[in-house]
Amino acid sequence: MTDWTTGTDAITFQHCPACAAVWYFARGFCPHCGGAPPATRAASGRGRVYAVTTVARAPSPELRALAPYRIALVDMEEGFRAMMHAAPGLEIGDAVQAGFLRFGDLTIPRCHRLGDRA
Ligand SMILES: [Zn+2]
Repeated sequence: MTDWTTGTDAITFQHCPACAAVWYFARGFCPHCGGAPPATRAASGRGRVYAVTTVARAPSPELRALAPYRIALVDMEEGFRAMMHAAPGLEIGDAVQAGFLRFGDLTIPRCHRLGDRA
């Protein structure tokens, strides 16, 4: 199953069939019980902002074109937490939907307030 890291408009997460744990960063075994192999699922893209900040000094030449930009930690409705770009004006607690932003050869998730346009 492909996701935004390979240019597909999707966020995926992993699920442990043995203990039902969920997590974001792909790995070959469950970080909670060690069970393997984990299952990969597509996320809805919906979640709630846990934290948000503004990045003024971008870490790469590609991202400098976007700076200053917002980054949010989002508690996704499937139970994992994901970091993604964020629309201006988002605040902690806002319900959000992930969309996808393209620049150069990259596709990155970018959330906006649920009900707003991407
Ligand atoms: Zn497990």
